[in-house]
Amino acid sequence: MLRIKGGKVYDPAHGLNGVVQDICVADGKIVADVPPGCREIDAAGLFIFPGGVDIHTHVAGAALNFARAMTPENQRQATKFFHTAKRRTGIGGPTPTTFATGYLYAGMGYTTVFEAAVPVLSAKHTHEELSDTPILDKGCCVLMANNEILLDLLQQGDVERAKHVVAWLIWAAKAYGVKAVNPGGVAAWKWGGNASAMSEPVSGYSQVTPLKIVSSLARIIDELKIPHPLHLHCNNLGAPGNYTTTLETMKALEGNRAHMAHLQFHAYGGDDWHTMRSESQAIADYFNAHPNLTCDAGAVLFGNAVTITADGPWQHLLYQLTGRKWGNIDVENETGCGIVPYSYKGSNLVNAVQWAVGLELLLLIKDPWRIFLTTDHPNGACFWRYPEIIHMLMNAAFRRERVKKLPEKVLPRIVLPDLNREYSLYEIAIITSAGPARALGLKNKGQLGVGADADIAIYHENPDGEYMFRYPRYVLKGGEVVVEDGEIRHQMGGREFIVHPSYDPKIEDFLRPLFQQQYTMSFENYPVELERLEHPIIHPCE
Ligand SMILES: [Zn+2]
Repeated sequence: MLRIKGGKVYDPAHGLNGVVQDICVADGKIVADVPPGCREIDAAGLFIFPGGVDIHTHVAGAALNFARAMTPENQRQATKFFHTAKRRTGIGGPTPTTFATGYLYAGMGYTTVFEAAVPVLSAKHTHEELSDTPILDKGCCVLMANNEILLDLLQQGDVERAKHVVAWLIWAAKAYGVKAVNPGGVAAWKWGGNASAMSEPVSGYSQVTPLKIVSSLARIIDELKIPHPLHLHCNNLGAPGNYTTTLETMKALEGNRAHMAHLQFHAYGGDDWHTMRSESQAIADYFNAHPNLTCDAGAVLFGNAVTITADGPWQHLLYQLTGRKWGNIDVENETGCGIVPYSYKGSNLVNAVQWAVGLELLLLIKDPWRIFLTTDHPNGACFWRYPEIIHMLMNAAFRRERVKKLPEKVLPRIVLPDLNREYSLYEIAIITSAGPARALGLKNKGQLGVGADADIAIYHENPDGEYMFRYPRYVLKGGEVVVEDGEIRHQMGGREFIVHPSYDPKIEDFLRPLFQQQYTMSFENYPVELERLEHPIIHPCE
């Protein structure tokens, strides 16, 4: 039992904006009171936040391992975590290894993270790595919008059976949500194509368009009552002029919920790379008026990154543009994956627009409960650089200094210099914790009320938001002090959130012969066994 005494509490789920009060902890949960004489943390003058929740990151699985193997140069330069009595070894850098991932997230006050892209076919590997990632609670989204079994059912107009297949695949992957990546485009990529026009049939189909995939999946996810809405990576990621695709996609949802992933990569105007400009205002205007939507920023920071995505055709284009290394994986009939190491440069006009657009969306989208802090790690920047973005959001003068360093030619293409909004600490607590927890449907996360998980980040006050949020005084996970002044004090395993949507068990009679005909793996070996997960928590679909 523990009393955290006299800190300023930032708990937006309960409207607490810097209110001085004690937080009491027993058995890993927040409780109303604890008896006198139990352990105390003197938090006078300190700032208390719910532990951070990352709604979209890439930290585990086959694609990550492929990226780690492809970038030994990053790993050689990266921070090394040496074994101590409290800590396992690991390597940092843009694609940290599993133990290091847990230390780096917890080290800046994050206690729950969601791996955004998992094929069922390699989900066992993902769960093994998630189990190896200490301290954090986790969950993952399974890739669905290019699964040929599903596309065939949409072609036949059999949406009811598609719904049962979706539910079966979610449980087979032991996933928490569903991710759509470049709907139809990844399937087409296996024959060298893409799906750029939203209402044109995907190659190989006459009745399936990207818009149909999006609207069908979003409706299915809502009908299955999956707590997190369809997690949507739109078509034409990264391409100049793609904001029209993003608007078309959002309109196709017809009121169904969706989480727009890494929106920064989908908010560009212009006709080509020479004319690319920000269209964050148009995207934010539509978004602000449609409460069925949430999003994460997918902000870009200058420096080294590794782009990892199921969006195979985009990655091939990025490889052609940069001449950097390129890795490609086709995941049988489910999805694909591409990897290209990348460096964002302030002197590069395209990169400068991207850097501005991420910040612009965070400043133009009015409701902080609907946009969350991410960098689409490690695509836009590494997650451990989040505090740099927090500082820019909180300090308009500092932001203006950074804008001055951009090439002058970029200024007419962005709106960032006109934006004077500054985030409060309360709003930072929303975009880093309370908001993403709500969008994930995790009632015990992102808040500090009685009954919540005792995941708590405690910071020193500092006018430099970057310094403040990079070095918490304490981080508690499930009521245990796991980080103190930057040192790992305690390392426990995390838990994993999954869902078990209902489906007709006879759907297996439909799927089994398809597997025998088409898959390289037997049907019985395909689903992830529940026992493989160390501490699964089955979240209700209701
Ligand atoms: Zn992503």
